[in-house]
Amino acid sequence: MKDEIIDLLRLEDKEKVSFLFDKALKTKLDNIGNKVYLRGLIEYSNICQKKCFYCGLRAENKINRYALTNEEVVNAAIFAHKNNFASIVIQAGEVKSHSYTKKITRLLDEINENTNGELGITLSLGEQTKDTLKEWKDTGKAIRYLLRIETSNQELFNKIHPNDTFHSFDKRLATLDMLKDLGYQVGTGIMIGLPFQTEENLASDLVFFMEKDIDMVGMGPYIEHKDTPLYRKYKKILLPLQKRLELTLKMIAILRTIMPTINIAATTALQTIDNKGREMAIQAGANIVMPNISPVKHRKDYLLYENKVCLQDEADKCMSCIFNRIHSSGAEIGWGEQGNSLHFLHSNIL
Ligand code: SAH
Ligand code: SF4
Repeated sequence: MKDEIIDLLRLEDKEKVSFLFDKALKTKLDNIGNKVYLRGLIEYSNICQKKCFYCGLRAENKINRYALTNEEVVNAAIFAHKNNFASIVIQAGEVKSHSYTKKITRLLDEINENTNGELGITLSLGEQTKDTLKEWKDTGKAIRYLLRIETSNQELFNKIHPNDTFHSFDKRLATLDMLKDLGYQVGTGIMIGLPFQTEENLASDLVFFMEKDIDMVGMGPYIEHKDTPLYRKYKKILLPLQKRLELTLKMIAILRTIMPTINIAATTALQTIDNKGREMAIQAGANIVMPNISPVKHRKDYLLYENKVCLQDEADKCMSCIFNRIHSSGAEIGWGEQGNSLHFLHSNIL
């Protein structure tokens, strides 16, 4: 299978590529239908203890650090609930401490109380201990967790992270396994267009998602951030942005054909390269969109990468833009539906 995937990733012929996208779209329609589900994205905090070489939030960067108040998060959650989003994602830099664990637990309870327990919550708070992940799961509200492996190739992983126990491939893998054991819907993903990344690496990433029986995937292009070691060192050998976009769309399409019932995100990073990037992803098989509903005043401080879109748009304006985008891609919006991964539901019923 890997060799076939590599061939597909190398396809240049426009007709053949569009055949791949059509096949992926058909697979999506046949297996999970035409709905795109919304997850309101709340960028909870940019405080991070890690130093990933590619990311603008890395601990060494001098940026204006913030954490939203519980009230700000709850207000964003209420916005999502009132507007029938049915799901939110709480994402942040990585912080590990007893008090942080408790803080998030309280936050989950508060969101729950203020939204009739009707929101499906995804957490994306980095690697945590099993006890912490269990505590959050036990609130009954955190049902999904996103932790990108970034690349399933250990050698490449080690090139894009510092070499210390804080940034360990094995730990990241072990955390994905823990999440599965704890009964979360498990999401992972990778960045596409990293220096040294080959088509073979990307094909192995897709096989990795299958082998790990992943429920949700978010894959996006790697986008440069000038204040990072990865950019400084390797800017001359990066793939052109357009190529990263094309590869990401192909990856989405191939993934949809091999894992027909998982959730696949049309990531915002795609739109940084092409204004229609997210629509293209939906047409290539993605079924999840994450409108940013974070307070506007902090958005410019959550720059994982540069040229991030939607920095100024208040949540309601952002909403109408997203809806137009989804409709123009020919899909419908799954209002009021959590849109849980059918892959997860099937494997937990059968
Ligand atoms: N701290 C958590 C969650 C926030 S970072 C974590 O790392 O898991 C969320 C994702 O942003 C990362 O998994 C990474 O894939 C992505 N990201 C970081 N820097 C990026 C960049 N320069 N270009 C594209 N994606 C990036
Ligand atoms: Fe921190 Fe996540 Fe960025 Fe790594 S990718 S520096 S863990 S926010």
